[in-house]
Amino acid sequence: VKRKLLFYGNDLLAQKSSDVTEFGAELRSLVEDMFETLDAEKGIGLAAPQIGVLSRVIVIDLSPFDDGPRVALVNPEIYWYSKDTVTYDEGCLSVPGVFYDVIRPEKIKVRAKDIDGKPLDFEADEVFSRVIQHETDHLDGVLFIERIPEEHLKEISSDLEKIRKSKNKKK
Ligand SMILES: [Zn+2]
Repeated sequence: VKRKLLFYGNDLLAQKSSDVTEFGAELRSLVEDMFETLDAEKGIGLAAPQIGVLSRVIVIDLSPFDDGPRVALVNPEIYWYSKDTVTYDEGCLSVPGVFYDVIRPEKIKVRAKDIDGKPLDFEADEVFSRVIQHETDHLDGVLFIERIPEEHLKEISSDLEKIRKSKNKKK
């Protein structure tokens, strides 16, 4: 089922999500819904809090990028960051229409579980590394715009205000 996205200005996006402890039917259907939402929105990554679920689950689909991975990561933990950084024009389904250069470490090492609870441990680079960092931030209540230096935030502040006002209206 495609779920409704939460947008910039919604308090749930600023909260820390909890670890998943049960690997069963509930997790499976959450991940299914997240992939369906991601596909419908034509995104490359989605974190559970973006659909209002405060659980540490992210889904990533890089299949349009040279057959990149399509995976769900549960309780992802980045335990190593490269010193080298790269700049990437980032966007977010919860901050529609806003794109901005964000500097982040180039490579990372990640521990996570798959949806069956099997441990994963791997190194990621390029877009995969970027998306994992962006989505893992969501699990800690951090949006990519908070990674933009304050002096540059002015350039997008009116766009952000528009999203806050138009997307969070009560029916
Ligand atoms: Zn995002």
